[in-house]
Amino acid sequence: MSAVGSCWLCGSTDLALAWRGDLPPTLGPGAFRITDAAYGRTADVYDCRACGFRQARGVDRVLALYEAMDDPDYEATRAPRRLQAERLLKVLRRHRRDGRLLDIGAGSGILVEAARAMGFDAEGIEPSRALQAEAVARGLPVHRGVLPHPGAAGRYDAATVVDVIEHVPDPVGLMRDVREVLAPGGLCLVVTPDLGSLAARLLGRRWWHYRIAHIGYFDRATLARALLAAGFEVIWAGRPTWQLPAGYLARRALTYLPGGTRVPVPGWLDRVALPLNLFDSLLFLARRRA
Ligand SMILES: [Zn+2]
Repeated sequence: MSAVGSCWLCGSTDLALAWRGDLPPTLGPGAFRITDAAYGRTADVYDCRACGFRQARGVDRVLALYEAMDDPDYEATRAPRRLQAERLLKVLRRHRRDGRLLDIGAGSGILVEAARAMGFDAEGIEPSRALQAEAVARGLPVHRGVLPHPGAAGRYDAATVVDVIEHVPDPVGLMRDVREVLAPGGLCLVVTPDLGSLAARLLGRRWWHYRIAHIGYFDRATLARALLAAGFEVIWAGRPTWQLPAGYLARRALTYLPGGTRVPVPGWLDRVALPLNLFDSLLFLARRRA
């Protein structure tokens, strides 16, 4: 049995150390930037022998670091990320074309803005003070904080949880909170990196999703388990295609080369969006069970 506690997904204490982490002595909010390029740096990583869920244990104050996080690089890539949000919303729109939508972890409101343009009555919720302020400055209804939140009450027809569930130490609790704000039959779209993907298996510890801010690592089975435990039924499972700026991709690719981070990447590349499908994220659409 282990002294590290119990599995965040199934509660088992049968956790096996996959590798020791290499956290810096002090963790600042910079480590939590969405565009942070410090791949491969994690807390101690464990696999649950009971359910298979991989989790990085020992990062405290996750929420406090998020609240203090700002990410100027993220704002610089707003346009291509808008396209990315539109692609995700198209999946949702196969099942629901309008109604109240809540985006959890809304950042600076990119998905909220896209959803409103598509006809949803969309709002968001975001813990980072700087990102939430940016959303408000753009006139977008994004509340600061996390669920449960008094400003995000009532019943929503749909919720989006994009690249959020891998950041929390209680994924089932998060999804239960999402379920609580949905009307019966309400839909939830969840996107998270896929531990079972070819990229994850080929790159091992060098997979770009191993980073300090990611503490839960899902595959199809464990994500389905989290959703079922929270009171959802999965109605569709697939993979999203990302639209990312070419400059962003070039800088990330260069981090895999010796000395690559010193290679200058021309700024105009950030204005070129590339459709990218590395098949390494999961997209689940789930329905709230009554
Ligand atoms: Zn487990």
